[in-house]
Amino acid sequence: MTATNHAINGVVIAIIVKKPELAIPLAFLSHFLADLVPHFNARSLSASRAKSFIAADVIIATGLTILLPLLLRHHLPVWITFVCMWAAMSPDIIWGWRFWRKKDINKVFTDQMSRLSRLHMKLQWSDTRQGFFVEAAWLAGMIYILISLTE
Ligand SMILES: [Zn+2]
Repeated sequence: MTATNHAINGVVIAIIVKKPELAIPLAFLSHFLADLVPHFNARSLSASRAKSFIAADVIIATGLTILLPLLLRHHLPVWITFVCMWAAMSPDIIWGWRFWRKKDINKVFTDQMSRLSRLHMKLQWSDTRQGFFVEAAWLAGMIYILISLTE
């Protein structure tokens, strides 16, 4: 799933759960549950388009993670929504680290990796180009929930 969708999941969890001692671990776990949902695979694009898509996703997710906690009207300290958004995205940092080291998006997922990374990859049982539509619907649904929670 895109970093943007993981970030939105994190902020929604923060607002619903409210208690940071529960919300932060739930946001982290939400990453793996969300990865079970059929989603978009940037590797289905050409290498240059995949890099552009991933870069745009990371920029949008980072921007949202900085701005949403500050701009949303809710009754939580800003740090809780910020940390939950990062917690929800954080498991994918390993893919960014592996890409930085290997310089080849396909090697990120085919070269030797830890048991946890293999499990993380297996959870993403359906990542396809068509998954883009699922991601778009997921984003729209989560934005609707977010707006409903902050009105
Ligand atoms: Zn993931």
